[in-house]
Amino acid sequence: MMDIEEEIKIQEIIEQEELERKQSSFMITKENFKNYYENFFPFKSFFKWLGKEREDIFERREISYTLENDTYIRFLCYKNHEEFKKDILKACPIKIDIGAIFNNFPKHHKTIAGGFFPVQKELIFDIDLTDYDFIRTCCSEAKICKKCWKFIIVAYEIINAILVEDFGFENIIWIFSGRRGVHCWISDERAKNLLNDGRSAIANFIKMKIATNAGLIYRPILWEPLHPSHVYYL
Ligand SMILES: [Zn+2]
Repeated sequence: MMDIEEEIKIQEIIEQEELERKQSSFMITKENFKNYYENFFPFKSFFKWLGKEREDIFERREISYTLENDTYIRFLCYKNHEEFKKDILKACPIKIDIGAIFNNFPKHHKTIAGGFFPVQKELIFDIDLTDYDFIRTCCSEAKICKKCWKFIIVAYEIINAILVEDFGFENIIWIFSGRRGVHCWISDERAKNLLNDGRSAIANFIKMKIATNAGLIYRPILWEPLHPSHVYYL
């Protein structure tokens, strides 16, 4: 005969299996997306953030969609958040990409006299937990847990402090990437106007070089005298 402890244990296992079964069968349907876009997607904030509430700026921003059947649609643009919402509800994309601000409306990209080219783009950093695989001991690749998420918090603390204190940026937003990390978008005008060289220079200032030994042993490269930011943040 089973004792009471054993019975409780078995009950717990059954409940856990039931939970896992429910989670694995959960699918995001088109209806879920529709409900999200209709009731939760922050269209007004998008207009404020990406277009500074100005139709002439917002309409020159390229928006791209990935549809349910994996079709990728580029060169979309909208006057304001109402027009944007109307089209999103119609297309119901499973993914939205935010592109640069161009010299003219992306929907007319083929017919613009003098060419079609980007004029501004936010400065963006992408931190992914897979970049930490060489020091993560709890998980690797796509798997993440609360323990390894702490690396993201440390990266946020250091990079945000450098962006604010060393570069004086003010309009910074950190967003969960939806999978294994976070994205940092800097929207100050002088960040949006940076050319590739300026963007690389900032990234290199923040970056701590990592050495590898035949791809097996990794260690950060530090040298004397230490860079002032390393002295301050370490
Ligand atoms: Zn982990």
